[in-house]
Amino acid sequence: MAAAKIDGKAIAEGLQSRIGAAVSELWRKHGIQPGLAVIQVGEDPASEVYVRSKVRSTIEVGMASFQHKLPATTSEVDLLSLIAKLNADPAVHGILVQLPLPSHLKASSVIRAISPEKDVDGFHVSNVGLLSTGQKAIVPCTPLGCLILLRETLESLVGLEAVVVGHSNIVGKPMAQLLLAENCTVTVAHKETRYLPEVCRRADVLVTAVGRPALIQGDWIKPGATVIDVGINRITSGGKRRLVGDVDFEGASKVARAITPVPGGVGPMTIACLLANTVSACCDNVGLARPDGVSF
Ligand code: NAP
Repeated sequence: MAAAKIDGKAIAEGLQSRIGAAVSELWRKHGIQPGLAVIQVGEDPASEVYVRSKVRSTIEVGMASFQHKLPATTSEVDLLSLIAKLNADPAVHGILVQLPLPSHLKASSVIRAISPEKDVDGFHVSNVGLLSTGQKAIVPCTPLGCLILLRETLESLVGLEAVVVGHSNIVGKPMAQLLLAENCTVTVAHKETRYLPEVCRRADVLVTAVGRPALIQGDWIKPGATVIDVGINRITSGGKRRLVGDVDFEGASKVARAITPVPGGVGPMTIACLLANTVSACCDNVGLARPDGVSF
């Protein structure tokens, strides 16, 4: 039987509409409007697209959007001074610095300057430490989106063998922490992993975040596995440009129980989780409980 397609678009729309309701209620009951500031340095074309869609979604759910577009030549001093201003601004509950930054700016120093309470990307070392010690943290958006998709697909994750391919700070590592927190048995694979096909074949839950089209073949998948494909790769086939993931979707669909498509799987969840994190950060900031159905 063909694997079920995990409809990230529909699940993200559901989450986004709960966020919209939570934002309205915050305004109605408390006169508070969550605000998200997005800083973009330079004109990386992919960043332009991501920032535009983050700003649009922020406004759609009724939150305040503060966009700061800086020239590629911006100095670290100027960038840090803007972040300090936003850290102190009570109308701003979330701050996101769009990556990658121009090469003269060090992402780790810039992220460390963001107040951890406003770090809605969940990249600050404080949030990384809180997540890895099982405490309330702001969780990076893409892995959080993957976890929500898994919870929607599987009754329980407890005791499952989970394999995460890719160990970046923004996807693979936090994904592994989230799966550990769900009591999965977690293996993290990367470029130097020996016998990657065998490692993948152990997985009841396979999450791939690599950035290589069709790296993961159908016969690497355990029958009945759930596959979450984070990869976004632009390829040209039959003269047309299109997006594919890290997994050979056709091959994997014949073996897996459920799989995310690319596009339409993890991608839409990332922005919805960014909005959810901003609502959570806002509630934490004013001492209100994080709303049900929006915080995780
Ligand atoms: P990254 O920082 O480049 O990390 C890629 C990881 O894959 C690294 O850990 C790397 O290992 C590993 N890797 C590379 N080649 C490999 C191979 N042949 N076998 C096994 N592992 C290999 O990328 P990222 O930021 O995590 O993103 C990964 C993918 O997810 C990209 O396609 C990106 O576009 C996509 N993405 C999607 C979303 C979304 O919203 N859907 C969000 C973020 C990222 P080494 O470190 O050992 O080289």
